[in-house]
Amino acid sequence: MDNWILKGVRNLVKEDMVTTPVSPTQVKVKVTHLLISNFDALLYSGDVAAEYPKTIGRFAVGIVTEVGEKCYGVEKGARVYLESVRSCNACYACKSGKSENCTDVQIAGRDFDGFMRDFVVCEYTEVAPLPDSVDNMHALCIETVGIAENIYDKLNLSAGQRVAVVGSDFTGNIIAQVLQFHKVIPIVIDNNPNNLEKARKCDIYYSYPADDDLLNNVLDATSGELCDAAIYSAGSRLPLSVACRLVGKKKSLVLTGFASMNCSMDARDILEKDLTVFGVTGAYRYTDAVINLLLHGAVNIDFFDKEVITEFDPVAILKDRSENIATANRGKMIVLKMIL
Ligand SMILES: [Zn+2]
Repeated sequence: MDNWILKGVRNLVKEDMVTTPVSPTQVKVKVTHLLISNFDALLYSGDVAAEYPKTIGRFAVGIVTEVGEKCYGVEKGARVYLESVRSCNACYACKSGKSENCTDVQIAGRDFDGFMRDFVVCEYTEVAPLPDSVDNMHALCIETVGIAENIYDKLNLSAGQRVAVVGSDFTGNIIAQVLQFHKVIPIVIDNNPNNLEKARKCDIYYSYPADDDLLNNVLDATSGELCDAAIYSAGSRLPLSVACRLVGKKKSLVLTGFASMNCSMDARDILEKDLTVFGVTGAYRYTDAVINLLLHGAVNIDFFDKEVITEFDPVAILKDRSENIATANRGKMIVLKMIL
């Protein structure tokens, strides 16, 4: 039984794992599929710091193999999504019994042990049973769809409003689709022609490269009004100023994504337009809402590049991804199929 532990920067080692017996409120899960994310690559390279040692791996699904006697709604043999974020149990909200308002949400692979291992023993509330019609590939997108839904909620948008989505890699594409599901009209901007093509295949009507015509294209798409909000995906590698330029006065600019954000923005853009700027990087407590969205076909991932690997070397995969994070096909879903 394998357990991939990050012991320090670029120091990922495989160890035999020891599993503990389940307590009455715990389940034991055989991890079957793990999505390699940019977040894992940034942890590996040290761009995102973890408290070592930590098992790496943020997004996974598995099969329940043992259930404690006080677990509800989870049965042995059930296919489940492993929650990639948990409350901290230490902040004021958590200690007051209001963990839903946790101010220090913990992320798998960074703050608690992640899922690149054969078995996970956790509380039954930390897994979400998956309906048959939500396949493993869609389930591995749950957190990203949750981030999109979280952004939609925070922006308080109404039907027909126009929102610029800067960067249409994996995250940006999903955000655009979720907005569209809510009848908000996304305007996707990316300099990668493949990403623009994928957006079109997912029925996104407005998709443009960030070239000299961009502002005029967006003015046309918004009847001269500019966008009601802009969402900047950190993986896009486009300047943040692109997002500032496309949004109207007194509107919001949201920053999101898992890439390390080393871009800067001009304060003048924010001041002159009186913009509200905030970040969304998580989707704590969104899993049930997302599964419902997926059941309603809100997100089409048919056109994403996917690779499912049974024989793998996580060190080589993470090394490659972290070294090529600026140029790699970030929309590609690399999934480890974990067989005992
Ligand atoms: Zn907390």
